[in-house]
Amino acid sequence: MQSTQISQLFLLLHLLIFTTVARGDVNRLVLDQLNQVGLVNLIEQATRPNVPRDLSNYDFIVIGAGAAGCTLAARLSENPQVSVALIEAGGVENIAHLTPVVAGYLQQTSSNWGYKSVPQKLSCHGMNNNECALPRGKILGGTSSINYMIYNRGNRRDFDAWAAAGNPGWSYDEVLPYFLRSEHAQLQGLEQSPYHNHSGPLSVEYVRFRSQMVDAFVEASVESGLPRTDYNGESQLGVSYVQANTLNGRRHSAYSAYIKPVRDLRSNLQIFTFSQVTRILIDEATKSAYGVEFHYKNKAYTFKARKEVILSAGSFNSPQLLMLSGIGPEDNLRGIGIPLIKALPVGKRMFDHMCHFGPTFVTNTTGQTTFTSRVTPAELISFLLAGNPATRMSSIGGVEALAFLKTQRSNLPNDWPDIELIMVTGSLASDEGTGLKLGANFKDEIYDRMYRELAQAQQDHFTLLIMQFHPKSVGRLWLKDRNPLGWPKIDPKYFVAEEDVEYLLDGIKASLRIIEMPAMQRIGARLLKRTVPGCEGHQFASDDYWRCSIRTLSYTLHHQVATCRMGAESDPTTVVNHQLKVHGVRKLRVVDTSIIPFPPTAHTNAAAFMIGEKAADMIRTDWELI
Ligand SMILES: Cc1cc2nc3c(=O)[nH]c(=O)nc-3n(C[C@H](O)[C@H](O)[C@H](O)COP(=O)(O)OP(=O)(O)OC[C@H]3O[C@@H](n4cnc5c(N)ncnc54)[C@H](O)[C@@H]3O)c2cc1C
Repeated sequence: MQSTQISQLFLLLHLLIFTTVARGDVNRLVLDQLNQVGLVNLIEQATRPNVPRDLSNYDFIVIGAGAAGCTLAARLSENPQVSVALIEAGGVENIAHLTPVVAGYLQQTSSNWGYKSVPQKLSCHGMNNNECALPRGKILGGTSSINYMIYNRGNRRDFDAWAAAGNPGWSYDEVLPYFLRSEHAQLQGLEQSPYHNHSGPLSVEYVRFRSQMVDAFVEASVESGLPRTDYNGESQLGVSYVQANTLNGRRHSAYSAYIKPVRDLRSNLQIFTFSQVTRILIDEATKSAYGVEFHYKNKAYTFKARKEVILSAGSFNSPQLLMLSGIGPEDNLRGIGIPLIKALPVGKRMFDHMCHFGPTFVTNTTGQTTFTSRVTPAELISFLLAGNPATRMSSIGGVEALAFLKTQRSNLPNDWPDIELIMVTGSLASDEGTGLKLGANFKDEIYDRMYRELAQAQQDHFTLLIMQFHPKSVGRLWLKDRNPLGWPKIDPKYFVAEEDVEYLLDGIKASLRIIEMPAMQRIGARLLKRTVPGCEGHQFASDDYWRCSIRTLSYTLHHQVATCRMGAESDPTTVVNHQLKVHGVRKLRVVDTSIIPFPPTAHTNAAAFMIGEKAADMIRTDWELI
């Protein structure tokens, strides 16, 4: 048997274990542990040990191998004269990460940092202790390895607003080339589109498995007046089958796209896994970053940077590391005894895209919703061994279509959507309460009273998640102590601005209108009549009922941005300038989604790749490396 077949069999075994765990048939704990350790990591550690050597020197040290960090490290190391250390707290992807349909389970594995918000007063009432789950990837590939793979760049006006806010070089026309540089589009019908490129590293394709329900949803959206659109093209408004970061139906993460193809070919790119950076070393006199400290297998190491330290640890960990290193709000740092190097509003602002998890609709179809127990060994074999990209295994956690809407409430220009409907063929019921419910921290009673019956009856259904693009509520993040291995405190303050709830209510009403359209009626689509626990005091489906539901089934799509906000140094809300250099500190940049100044009209993964690509160009120009 060839080694590729052996590894595929191994992968199949791994996924079989994974789905068996989901069914709860066997000793769950033992198998959970096996999965969490990540069998692939054992092999990886044996075949590619990269034990750090203390006090090593590199030209660039990139902290965090996430979407932006992998992109940046890969581009910088294209020049063999440049040495790059890429330091990542997590391990490497296994077959579970590569199999799109199980995306919802990944939040229960050790490849999620597993953060939770502080208890929320006005949202997440359906979550245990009112704490919203805030997952983040802890793995080579970062959050791009555990996310839902939706590929979505944003609106022209988003980037023009970044530029207008003191960030020259970030207008739409200036960032589009970087989106294109990263993209390898295989989108039928868009082959000639100037908005898509076919030669970049990151695969973008339509999900090839399609349910009858998504066809009905797209048709009904058009019947309701929405145009069909390429939401990454000329105009966002409208409806589209989802574009996904998959390659032949498998997840294409930042690691798979940018690092895996080159890591064995470039001796100048050194990758250190299971290595958690605890501090950036900054010379107090010159205010210059010169290295990092990190932990690998319970031992402390120091690396030195000849040129720059680049922080790509994501929207929670980049601000955390800046603060641990003495850069942040003076009162917070002094309060916990961290010597101040530079006072900056790190973590003072955090925007996110909050959703309403629903409404859920039942249909008269059969066999269209993917229930975990319906995945058959034949489908596994077809997907894993025969490489068939059109099985339900390639469904990106059930997400099938997106619709971008403009509500009457919004006074933004007409081509700037404020609501997105995310059509998911499933709900908490589709994995029978074993994945998404736990990952999102939903209370048992939400599952038991709303979804359990659907799961038991294997009743076909779908959910329209309603997402607001431009919330007025602003959260924040801070340190509670100096422990670099602890969590930052995260208070997203969802729905402190009442109007955010009203936008979501408008979105729910828009979704109900689509359900009335003939295409939806043909499949018998109707609202799931299960009262949300805690909202019994309101008449079902009245405005007040939905407002209660919004504050209960509050579900973030994890697009936290602006914790290291980009802008002019004169702007007291910003941390880095338009070249992503930390204000007042030399040789230190932040390159990830934490720099995004406003909540974008998009999911945030594509922007992370764009930021990594653009940063690589800026850094190469600065150091004359081109
Ligand atoms: C569950 C989920 C689903 C999502 N779905 C989508 C989607 O479908 N489409 C979309 O566009 N967006 C989605 N997003 C958001 C999107 O994936 C992220 O915004 C984006 O990937 C973030 O990229 P980044 O480079 O900023 O950070 P990350 O990709 O999070 O990278 C940060 C990296 O730094 C590492 N790191 C952190 N601290 C340290 C340290 N101290 N030492 C060493 N390494 C460290 C982390 O382990 C991680 O690998 C989703 C997010 C989540 C959580």
